[in-house]
Amino acid sequence: SISSKKKREAKVWSIANQKGGVGKTTTTVNLATALAACKKKVLIIDLDPQGNASTGLGVEPDARQQSIYQVMIEGLPITRAVRSTDVPRMHVISSGVELSGAELELVGLAEREFKLVNAIGPLLDQFDYILIDCPPALGLLTLNALVASDAVLVPLQTEFYALEGLSHLLRTIDRVKRGLNRRLQIQGVVLTMYDRRNNLCEMVAADVRAFLGEKVFNTVIPRNVRVSEAPSHGKPVLLYDVACAGSQAYIKLAGEILRNEQVRVTEPAVA
Ligand code: ADP
Ligand code: MG
Repeated sequence: SISSKKKREAKVWSIANQKGGVGKTTTTVNLATALAACKKKVLIIDLDPQGNASTGLGVEPDARQQSIYQVMIEGLPITRAVRSTDVPRMHVISSGVELSGAELELVGLAEREFKLVNAIGPLLDQFDYILIDCPPALGLLTLNALVASDAVLVPLQTEFYALEGLSHLLRTIDRVKRGLNRRLQIQGVVLTMYDRRNNLCEMVAADVRAFLGEKVFNTVIPRNVRVSEAPSHGKPVLLYDVACAGSQAYIKLAGEILRNEQVRVTEPAVA
């Protein structure tokens, strides 16, 4: 049939940092929700064996029979693993416990870094954004995410050791860019769990901005108890308490991201 609708072409972003507890899952779920609220069609791929994004979205355990594990290891068509969520326009592919074995199983497979990129094709014209929640390691699962992505978004916890380990991540991104996926970019670094009452936070933020420059988003995500409560209710914080500072920050971040893209599209490139 003839359709006048503009064809979608999903931007695929890895939310990655090999440190645990820095806000990857929180950022994936809530940025995705904010983008969906801005009328974008969004898919979350939960690539962490711990499955925090799946749990935080209230995905039932039996819906996890068709997970990203079955897609990457058993060849399940990816469209069959897509589930709807309580958020309009937002979908999820869940992770399952089997995924913890995938890191080792992948080692023995041909094209082990390309399982996700080879599977993801049928979804690219279905979504505007595909956000991949990565595990806290730079192993084969994260490599699969980076190979399948256009860009990486790095959450950094605003703490004294924020920059520690970052050079390792940047080297890995660079290696992937040179060897496996030339189109991979760094979308940006987002400071998370920012506490305005803590003077150290401002010093750390200044350090990070001095080191990474304009790659750091202007929007910072404050430490906010509502953000940490929401997952236990099976909801993104935007559905749990839209007025709280955490929700407002993720809405602002989505706005900053969408505005940046607008600028990139409309401003002519200067040679
Ligand atoms: P990661 O996925 O990098 O391991 P999470 O997103 O799971 O990190 O965050 C780690 C913990 O910190 C979780 O318990 C989460 O609820 C909490 N958390 C994340 N962001 C915030 C925030 N802005 N304010 C308060 N708690 C947060
Ligand atoms: Mg996580």
